[in-house]
Amino acid sequence: TAAVLTLDGPGGAGKGTISRLIAARLGWHLLDSGALYRLTALAAQRHGVALDDEPALARQAAGLDVVFLAEGESTRVLLEGDDVTREIRTEQVGDTASQVASLPAVRQALLQRQRDFRRSPGLVADGRDMGTVVFPDAELKVFLTASPEERARRRHLQLQEAGLDASLSSLLKEIQARDARDMQRSVAPLVPAHDAIELDTTSLNIPEVVERLTEWLAE
Ligand code: C5P
Repeated sequence: TAAVLTLDGPGGAGKGTISRLIAARLGWHLLDSGALYRLTALAAQRHGVALDDEPALARQAAGLDVVFLAEGESTRVLLEGDDVTREIRTEQVGDTASQVASLPAVRQALLQRQRDFRRSPGLVADGRDMGTVVFPDAELKVFLTASPEERARRRHLQLQEAGLDASLSSLLKEIQARDARDMQRSVAPLVPAHDAIELDTTSLNIPEVVERLTEWLAE
């Protein structure tokens, strides 16, 4: 089977950017597992599925009609044929995603779809439970963290780049609420795998993190 690098950690730790850069550099495939939870949340909203109807949410997850289109450095995301690349990045969809992600049937419904991304020559898998649940046999597992303030600042920049806006203080509050929910949920809580390497990126820039991970992969 193809090699896997798992990158787990809380939101805003830099996983998305780092994963994209490393995948591009190695010519590996990329799994943005958070996008699948965001898409499930958006599909549920569009189809009027209640956020406490676990079986119906799991059906949305299992039947997601999604296409990831690689376009140079970035990826366009189509849900049922509609371009939702920007829409899935809003804080509102992120918050709903974190709610549906706490449901075991939803996680189960997305499991095989995530494993199917593992193809030669390799996969960079970005998420919360890539090293613990989805790819427990990954070659290298990294758990990226950063202080909540730094993560709020990064999220703020990211949203601005996407043409979206939100205040720094509201982002900090949402990040802390979402972290708490992700860490305390009973299924696949956000914790480092026992064999993961933890890296605090608060005072590292992106090239420094990419460099460090590439070195670890080569070891
Ligand atoms: O990483 P991103 O912000 O796109 O993820 C959105 C939400 O999806 C997270 O807050 C988390 O609750 C959930 N998620 C998850 N497991 C993953 C990826 C994301 O539970 N592997």
